[in-house]
Amino acid sequence: MAKIFKAATAGSLPKPSWLAETEKLWPAWKDSGDALTEKKKESAAMWIDAQEQSGIDIISEGEQFRIHFVHGFLETIEGINWDKKTSMGIRNDRYVVEVPTVTEALKKSESIHAKDAKFLRSKTEKLTKFTLPGPMTISDTIANEFYADKAEMAMEFAKLLNDEAKTLCNEGIDIIQFDEPAFNSFLKESIEWGMDAMEVAIDGLECKTAIHICYGYGIEENLNWKKTLGDQWRQYENLFPAINQSNIDQVSLEFAGSRVPPELMRLLPDKEIMAGVISVVGDHIETAEEVEKNIISALDHVEAERLIPCTNCGMAPISVDVAKQKLQALGEGTKRAAKRIS
Ligand code: ZN
Repeated sequence: MAKIFKAATAGSLPKPSWLAETEKLWPAWKDSGDALTEKKKESAAMWIDAQEQSGIDIISEGEQFRIHFVHGFLETIEGINWDKKTSMGIRNDRYVVEVPTVTEALKKSESIHAKDAKFLRSKTEKLTKFTLPGPMTISDTIANEFYADKAEMAMEFAKLLNDEAKTLCNEGIDIIQFDEPAFNSFLKESIEWGMDAMEVAIDGLECKTAIHICYGYGIEENLNWKKTLGDQWRQYENLFPAINQSNIDQVSLEFAGSRVPPELMRLLPDKEIMAGVISVVGDHIETAEEVEKNIISALDHVEAERLIPCTNCGMAPISVDVAKQKLQALGEGTKRAAKRIS
């Protein structure tokens, strides 16, 4: 019998201290050149192994090859001036960061992550997932001095992302996930043009596609923002009907310890749902029983066949040790839930 639940992570995992600065969103690498490349591989292999040992069935490289989930994709794109840093409020001014600036037409001459995808594929027999930033989120994390507006720039990024995603599928990746945390900050724009850009990004892909929309990493700015959102976080209510009509296969949702009304899952009747059953705060390590309970309660709103137990978001800013324990709880809790309903 096919396995009922296939657990996954949302994507990023922490970088160990011998690879980069720890518990930071934009950490500095601890090495350079070939030595750094080897360390990245070693770290990715460690996480691939840790996921397998924990019983996770959809394996990622934990984003060990890139410095940040958005800027890692941008590093080799032409048309971006990295010396022209602009101080910009991102995610609707939730935080201010120094970002590079688009000053010419965007162009991509080579694959950005093909080698990383090839490495991941060579290290596991299980299903693989590779994450890319979504076009709207990229456009919200870079300054624009070239295109008419953010929407036009996002559409250009979407074309480059589509080309990259096709390359990654050809390397044998099973699921390409686009991370669109910006959707939750720009509800109107997400529907007006964010999903159009997403359709361009996934156009013609032969592997499965996923969209991850979250309330952000478990860092202070996000935790403070969440406090302003009230008793019920209903942002998904606005987004999900549009996403359900799209060609995306899988949709993620923050569920563990969040104030998202779980019945919002019902707005995605035609999609697989990656329900976050592990929170991404560093000071709470879920038990397997807790994960099991989260999965069972998600089943009130989604059939088991469409449910993918997942983490709420990436775990990049927490410690390696805590992330490993969370992976174990995810794998173990998933196994317990499967047993309980079988
Ligand atoms: Zn996230």
